[in-house]
Amino acid sequence: MHELSLMQNVLQTVELSAEQHHICRINKVKLVIGQLTMALPDSLLFAFEALKPGTIFANASLVVEEQKARCQCRRCRQEFELDEFYGLVCPQCGNIDIQVQGGDEMYVDFYEGE
Ligand SMILES: [Zn+2]
Repeated sequence: MHELSLMQNVLQTVELSAEQHHICRINKVKLVIGQLTMALPDSLLFAFEALKPGTIFANASLVVEEQKARCQCRRCRQEFELDEFYGLVCPQCGNIDIQVQGGDEMYVDFYEGE
């Protein structure tokens, strides 16, 4: 399961950082995931719940924010959000030569602990 290994990496990263800051209990983790990572927020939340017992995340809550990819048509310069159903077609002129920016990021925005 893709999301389980992603979440394992996230928790390891936060744990390492928490250790350095002498934080021994995490209350909240906010994760930003790009639309193009194909990670499902529900699956990430599920993975988080499955992994947290017995760790410093035992009482923590997870917030997942989805970051949309930004697209720009190379012909008419129209900017638009990537629509999974519509695909990479300019909504204004129908051009398929589209530049995609962002949407592939995945990072911990912040975490809170004590
Ligand atoms: Zn266009």
